[in-house]
Amino acid sequence: KDFKSDQEVRWCPGCGDYVVLNTVQSFLPTLGLKRENIVFVSGIGCSSRFPYYLNTYGMHSIHGRAPAIATGLATTRPDLSVWVVTGDGDALSIGGNHLIHALRRNVNIKILLFNNRIYGLTKGQYSPTSGQGMVTKSTPMGSVDTPFNPISLALGAEATFVGRALDSDKKGLTEVLTAAARHRGSALVEIYQNCPIFNDGAFDVLKDKDEAAQRIIPLRAGEPVRFGSEGEFGVVPNRWGGFEVAKVAEVGESELIVHDPTITDTAYAFGLSRIGDQNLNHTPTGIFRQVSRPTYDDDARAQVEQARSAKPADLQALLTGKDTWTVD
Ligand code: SF4
Repeated sequence: KDFKSDQEVRWCPGCGDYVVLNTVQSFLPTLGLKRENIVFVSGIGCSSRFPYYLNTYGMHSIHGRAPAIATGLATTRPDLSVWVVTGDGDALSIGGNHLIHALRRNVNIKILLFNNRIYGLTKGQYSPTSGQGMVTKSTPMGSVDTPFNPISLALGAEATFVGRALDSDKKGLTEVLTAAARHRGSALVEIYQNCPIFNDGAFDVLKDKDEAAQRIIPLRAGEPVRFGSEGEFGVVPNRWGGFEVAKVAEVGESELIVHDPTITDTAYAFGLSRIGDQNLNHTPTGIFRQVSRPTYDDDARAQVEQARSAKPADLQALLTGKDTWTVD
């Protein structure tokens, strides 16, 4: 099946969005879903042109409000696979509130957060993920803001699936997206995406082979968390209840944590997210958290069904706060 639309793709030459689009167009057919049962909802921003380029249903919606629209869709149409495409400005600034509530509610939607650490569509203003001191058109003397860590934010909102991938890593991105697609509940996937026009090279240190070996910490379920060109570094617990990077030769292999994204306590995945820093010295990638809990849309539909099948007298009891009602 061809998931490419006939629309001309209109991003700047070299934009990381092309690679992500290509990856998504390649991986969607593997889900075995009909095109008419897939919907991509976007907000406003460069990445939000995404729905035009997929031969599925889609909606280029309102700035920051894509998670709210997707929530309504997922709740009323459980037969659909609902995806949100958003950027760091769209999701974390004007849409911050919608994002965190969609995540805490565990709505059955998959959110692709393209993080290029800049506003691209409006031509280069700093965003909620721009680093402190970053000079942009709206911060000529350098940003004084502390940036969000989107992974930590999602985990703080109790998101049940949280992952990160690089735009250029087709294999890694496909793995995370495939797991997200199969996850029942809300999934947030942060994608580091290069904007060659307004923030070129922001993630280049993760794309150079030698640098990547020293900086990227691959999270693989069931395996010790270690990295480096010869696996010489690893992640160990620290005295504050979090994690830190250590030389394996100094601490011993048995001290390394073994990755388990199914740990229910968010403190585990949150600790992993804090290893990373804005300078990308250490960058965990893969699936941080993947746990199961009831979804908002399933529970909301169950309540609707309960109300529909109730007798009028029982409904009255429900509305007046009495919980002793019966269903035929
Ligand atoms: Fe891509 Fe940046 Fe151009 Fe937007 S401004 S299309 S993010 S390169």
